[in-house]
Amino acid sequence: MMERTFIIIKPDAVQRSLLGEIIGRFERKGLKIIGLKMMQLEDSILEEHYSHLADKPFFGTIRDFMKSTPVVGVVLEGVDAVNAVRLIVGPTKGREADAGSIRGDLSMSIQTNVVHASDSLENAKAEISRFFKDEEIFSYKKVDLNFVYSEDELSQ
Ligand code: ADP
Repeated sequence: MMERTFIIIKPDAVQRSLLGEIIGRFERKGLKIIGLKMMQLEDSILEEHYSHLADKPFFGTIRDFMKSTPVVGVVLEGVDAVNAVRLIVGPTKGREADAGSIRGDLSMSIQTNVVHASDSLENAKAEISRFFKDEEIFSYKKVDLNFVYSEDELSQ
């Protein structure tokens, strides 16, 4: 199914000059970028975004880390995009992530793990509307679509 998902390129990646490297990996995979912006996150949006971690001891640290520089939010579209993007990103702890994944190749840490990615279709929808206005999401024809997917995959 054609899906939309959401990633945040975190402050450690901005500081380490990895924006192009990370965006390029999603582009090369065949995912379509339909929204992209730099933003300075504040407490209120981070407390909502990380509400599932509110009772964890590291909650304050992750919130402050996510505010330490601007971040880049990207909305991606593709067939089964939520799962495909989670696979490209890899598991939370960078030093245990498979080589080839973004965290496996670019991170040694559980906190500074370069990228956030939505973990379900439901959360992707909520996160896209939390971080992007409707007019910041673009609908346009991408000419490589019929080479990225078969006809069958596009009609599912
Ligand atoms: P993921 O980002 O892989 O979906 P979680 O939703 O569990 O993982 O956690 C959100 C973010 O909180 C992680 O990406 C990481 O930056 C941070 N985090 C998670 N666990 C820890 C931990 N034990 N110590 C410090 N930071 C953590």
